[in-house]
Amino acid sequence: MGQDAERIQEIRRLKQEIYGEYGVFYYVPMAESYTVQVPVTVSCSYRRCLYCDLNQGMAFRELSFDEIDANLERLRVIHERDTRPPSRFLLAGGNPFVLSTEKLLSIAERVRAVFPSCEYIACFARADDVLRKTGGASDELATLHQAGYDRLCLGIESGSDRVLRYQEKGVGRAENAAAMAALDAAGMRYSAYVMLGLGGRDMSAEHITETADLLNAAHPFELTVVTLVLFRGARLVEKVRTREFRRMTSLETLKEGRELLSRLTLSTVWNGTHKTNLFPIKGKLPEHKDLLLRRIDAALAEMSRGDLKQHELRRWQNWGIE
Ligand code: SF4
Repeated sequence: MGQDAERIQEIRRLKQEIYGEYGVFYYVPMAESYTVQVPVTVSCSYRRCLYCDLNQGMAFRELSFDEIDANLERLRVIHERDTRPPSRFLLAGGNPFVLSTEKLLSIAERVRAVFPSCEYIACFARADDVLRKTGGASDELATLHQAGYDRLCLGIESGSDRVLRYQEKGVGRAENAAAMAALDAAGMRYSAYVMLGLGGRDMSAEHITETADLLNAAHPFELTVVTLVLFRGARLVEKVRTREFRRMTSLETLKEGRELLSRLTLSTVWNGTHKTNLFPIKGKLPEHKDLLLRRIDAALAEMSRGDLKQHELRRWQNWGIE
């Protein structure tokens, strides 16, 4: 076997050792897909959102410092021949920001010890993970920011309390707003996930108006716009079967996305390129808002004429149960 082939095999083995525990749905925030990913938690500490089966029944666990150090050493080997040392890092796991401030600070030190080139460390966070780090005697968010934490990815999903309650998100609009304000105050940048179709047909109007209102008062550097999909193991599936939850069609969610976009006045990036979306589109707001709206209108007109491409439909159906 040549040296190149050996190296490829070694990297494959190391990646399997690092990420193997995550299973099929190893999920990385879209804004951080090109980062070096450091496992620190497995699964999500909450695991009760009605629509979610990303964790496939896996119990939440924190990796020990020994495990984290071992993974950092594997990552060092993987990146030792990079022409430019890696600068962007992501803590892998459903919501690593649930970890104590003390542990997060120690992880940042360990990342920097192995990769002095580290410029920032991002991770997924729930609003309650952020809020637990506010209100104490010390400004924990500012301390974490100084230690390198930045570009958190916040799962907002909706600005509507009714939608969030129905989907058992565990936090409401007020918590989402307070978490974003706290991150703003600490100077920590964040992207916000919003989910089209999350209110179904019955709550669509309030889902969109209240999400737009919430976002217009916040300062995410990017909106990651995704569309609700039905994971086979999610509890929402049963509510769709009994028609308690009336799922929107792909065209309806595209229209919902258009409505949300039309109501936004904040400066951010609209990133709707996630694979769950029927029509992937991305642009800066407010500069590209009109252009994005025109593109969506053109796509809607084409699709309404029955020109929806078969592969687009298939892609959509692959996610569904229907
Ligand atoms: S959607 Fe996010 S917060 Fe909710 S259970 Fe899934 S991973 Fe956890």
